[in-house]
Amino acid sequence: MLQNSHKNYTITGKQILTRENSEENTKNYWYTITEKLRKKIPSQFFSVFFSEIQEVTIENNQLILAAKDKRVINHIKKRYLNEIKEAAQEIISDNIDIIFDTDYTNQKTNENQKKKYKFSNLENNDNLSDRAKKHQANSAYPKYIALNPNYTFERFIKGPSNEHALVAAEEAAKTPKNFHNPLYLFGGVGLGKTHLLMAIGNYISEHLPYLNVQYIPAEIFQSDLIEAMISKSLPHFREKYRNVDVLMFDDIQFIKQRAEYTQEEIFHTFNYLYQNKKQIIISADRPPQHLSHLTDRLLNRFQSGLMVDIKPPNLETRMAILKKKSDELNLDISEEVRSYISMRIKTHIRGLEAALIKLKFVSDIERKPIDLKLAKHILKDLPNENSSHEVSIDEIFKILLKTYHVDEDEIKSSSRVERVALTRHVGMYLTKKLLPTMSLSSIAAVFGRTDHTTVIHADKKIHELINNDESFNIQINELLEELQF
Ligand code: ADP
Ligand code: MG
Repeated sequence: MLQNSHKNYTITGKQILTRENSEENTKNYWYTITEKLRKKIPSQFFSVFFSEIQEVTIENNQLILAAKDKRVINHIKKRYLNEIKEAAQEIISDNIDIIFDTDYTNQKTNENQKKKYKFSNLENNDNLSDRAKKHQANSAYPKYIALNPNYTFERFIKGPSNEHALVAAEEAAKTPKNFHNPLYLFGGVGLGKTHLLMAIGNYISEHLPYLNVQYIPAEIFQSDLIEAMISKSLPHFREKYRNVDVLMFDDIQFIKQRAEYTQEEIFHTFNYLYQNKKQIIISADRPPQHLSHLTDRLLNRFQSGLMVDIKPPNLETRMAILKKKSDELNLDISEEVRSYISMRIKTHIRGLEAALIKLKFVSDIERKPIDLKLAKHILKDLPNENSSHEVSIDEIFKILLKTYHVDEDEIKSSSRVERVALTRHVGMYLTKKLLPTMSLSSIAAVFGRTDHTTVIHADKKIHELINNDESFNIQINELLEELQF
């Protein structure tokens, strides 16, 4: 059951303060304010300073905050007063004032003290065992996973492999109340699921800041739940995950089969949010029907909304990602180097990033731009995703016919028609690249030529085109990719 108290306030609704506010109300207000502040204040600062606030009182339209350490109070006052005020105005009342009670220690004996809400923990500690209290004191509960501000829609490169997922995520972010529920995103590791989830969170925080968004990797949900059980703070746990407008579960596949209680809790959380028309977004590395270790009733829920997959990016998308990420890293690399990386790494976007980071590292140390030779050397240890498939001349002719509609006889003929000549040049270029053991004169012979310099000329010409014409470059890379697959 959800704690009753949470019905006493709404995240968005302001309440006018009357004479007295109960301790329970104060607690709820402060909890809601801190949850808002968490989103605005870097988590490391938040956890250090706000956990030091030990007493909160609301009296006569004043929110009074106290801490033992004056330095903490001074710091909060200096850095976060505006944020606290804004949140308090939004949640409590427009004319609320924030007062810092720096005389906390002197007031110990004051009768009023009893009225104040002790903020050593959000839960009522009175009934807890010593062990549980100790546990609570040690833990960073409630956990909060900060959204990575770099994971935005703007920074997400669209391609045929991910555009459905991107559109679905954007829609869910724009209209979280009216979108398919749940939105279930699935795809392999490193393909952008977490990026999209966080982009939804970042978008909502910016454009619909009155909505409460919670992002939680499923594993952390599980450990959070265990911690809540040990410290007997399940009501608070539930409040945290149910008092939200948008809940995002990342990597749901990590919930173990034997974690029955967690599955049950997810199921009830899901139902609660679903019934209250709150948006649920789930990510996993596979579709629900392949998560056979989860209970059927949970899987049924996951399947009841919109399921969208993300596939490995195609060559063009990989090139675009490399361009964007190298710009972001301020790393100057040529088209040729990017082509090389995107041919080497095909399935993980994270792998593309790792390659760039390595190049950036070396280029910074060596203070020189990265050319293809250096890039190959630096990246030689990367796993080579290319298969060892040996390309044959026949396959090259076939793909030329398919792409340029010029057949083998025409290619071998003396025709100088532009379309035929270009196809011939591409053929020579591909052969030289993919069959490096073949001599130049044998390549020339295969294409009906007697002079090996024609191959050198063709190779040069194609290189020039690649460097000057982006769409040609993409086409050549696609041919290379298809041939090597
Ligand atoms: P997943 O959660 O699916 O394992 P992530 O979201 O963590 O993958 O993505 C791995 C890395 O690749 C992240 O740094 C992310 O920013 C980046 N990435 C993934 N897809 C894209 C994309 N389409 N555009 C830009 N960056 C991407
Ligand atoms: Mg992820």
